[in-house]
Amino acid sequence: MTDSDTLYDLLLDLDNRGYKAYKDIQGQYKFPNFTLIIDYVQGDPFASPSKLRVRVPQSVAQFPAELYTTPSRNVALRDYLTRQFDAACHGVSQHRGTGKSGTIAVCCMGQEVLDRTSAYINDDWLELRFVVGLPARGRRILGRQAAYMLCEDVPELVDRALVYANLNAAEIRRHVETVEDADWLRSQLSPKDLVAFVADGAILPRRSGVDDRPLPNNAVPFESPESLRVRFSRPNGGEISGMGIPKGVTLIVGGGYHGKSTLLRAIELGVYDHIPDDGREFVVTDPTAVKIRAEDGRYVAGVDISPFINNLPQGQPTTSFSTENASGSTSQAANIVEALEVGAKLLLIDEDTSATNFTIRDRRMQQLIAKEKEPITPFIDRVRQLLEEQVVSTILVMGGSGDYFDVADTAIAMTEFRPSDVTDEVRQIASDFATGRQPEGGEAFGEVRSRSIEPDSIDPSRGKRSIKWQVRGIDEIVFGTQDIDLSAVQQVVDAGQLRAIAEAMVYLKQEYADGRRTLTELLDLIFSDIETRGLEVLSPFPQGDLAEFRRFELAAALNRLRTLQTANRGQFS
Ligand code: ADP
Ligand code: MG
Repeated sequence: MTDSDTLYDLLLDLDNRGYKAYKDIQGQYKFPNFTLIIDYVQGDPFASPSKLRVRVPQSVAQFPAELYTTPSRNVALRDYLTRQFDAACHGVSQHRGTGKSGTIAVCCMGQEVLDRTSAYINDDWLELRFVVGLPARGRRILGRQAAYMLCEDVPELVDRALVYANLNAAEIRRHVETVEDADWLRSQLSPKDLVAFVADGAILPRRSGVDDRPLPNNAVPFESPESLRVRFSRPNGGEISGMGIPKGVTLIVGGGYHGKSTLLRAIELGVYDHIPDDGREFVVTDPTAVKIRAEDGRYVAGVDISPFINNLPQGQPTTSFSTENASGSTSQAANIVEALEVGAKLLLIDEDTSATNFTIRDRRMQQLIAKEKEPITPFIDRVRQLLEEQVVSTILVMGGSGDYFDVADTAIAMTEFRPSDVTDEVRQIASDFATGRQPEGGEAFGEVRSRSIEPDSIDPSRGKRSIKWQVRGIDEIVFGTQDIDLSAVQQVVDAGQLRAIAEAMVYLKQEYADGRRTLTELLDLIFSDIETRGLEVLSPFPQGDLAEFRRFELAAALNRLRTLQTANRGQFS
């Protein structure tokens, strides 16, 4: 292996040459404390930056094994190391010429702790992956700047961020213990017949719609009503109490601006772990929870929305419903059925983002518009069938209609950001003031079948390239020639998840889609590969910016791919 002095001299030699000459530095270099691996060199200073790794032997890094030997701690420590490296990058010069010259960065990270490909650790070494904008003026290599970046800055970053002795041991411990406790709490929900837990003292509101950090001042800490309070003894942090939301149908009611949506949002994101001091690190939710909303304009491919929609004008069938342009109610119906298809056991619905005609249909409207003239069976007539037939729970924010009092098991009222248990009052009111509604749900919800997927309808090619994809923030995947709009898929929290989902779509097509397998079977195969071989299995080369995602979000991306064709099993084989 070449050593770092050789790399230094090579970079000086490249000074002032054309940018393409940088390709010569691809390879591995032995530094005194680590190995630098240059996997990919960018083609010009404006292109996506070059991909590098450092591998630090444990003889130098010296992380105690107890910090990474359990799965939860392993994810948490790698998350911590990535954050430390990121912070250290902010401390070195980032501007060394044209375009991205001088950039040195890891993947972007938010409040969630996710399994990522950015860092790995075992008993022998730890590895950190980052990108570098190799410096140039115009298209001429700035060799001295490059030598400084790779041979001075990088060793300094390694020293500051990846050596245990130079880090805050108490903070690391808190990071891994918090994540381990949160995972443990989540695992305790189902045995206790709960679908979510919101810790006393949790801080739920965020700084703003575009800043996911906790509201710094005047946030009212969460305080459970006594009747819903449950207690756990965490593996690390000891006793904790908070509100347990039982399986069943739960309403969150209360006046406008009293914190209903903020509570639901925290529950939506409780499928993920959060960093210490996020405020929601001990808000945990059933991992199969899916946020459901109306999403008019979306594409739908062969979904059986007949539990909710029937007798459409012009006789359009709804047992295998396809459209280029769903309405509010048909999109919400499709979102529910698609979530159930791939295993959702908890639906989260906010009136703010629901179609009214999908959610309620009151007595007066039933009187005016006969059932035969209304294609929609409202959710209120299905929510108990879902629970009783499929054991699917629902948490619904509903400040605007009391009709749901009839179908609720639990009701929580938010008043000045404080929850109270109003279940008994809701029952009383339901019996004192009958709605007079006619139930319209019929006998049963019926079965949800998984669709098989036509492999040729998933095409990542664009122009001359057989695979071409790109993500835009957390809202969009450009997949081949198609734009997949995920802006209404609200449990995507990280661009790395969308990159991994794009890779997974390619992988699914190349490895498993055969026209016969159903979406559920394809997801099971992919997630079993990820389980045994890690997220790396999705990527043909080492890359640091993939993040874990759930089957629901991968399904959501496929379902929104406007070329997707589906059928009942077997039709494409
Ligand atoms: P609702 O859905 O009941 O209309 P929101 O959840 O949208 O209300 O909250 C209204 C506002 O109050 C938001 O700006 C939110 O950030 C803020 N908020 C929510 N919960 C709290 C809290 N616990 N402490 C302080 N502010 C809060
Ligand atoms: Mg709201």
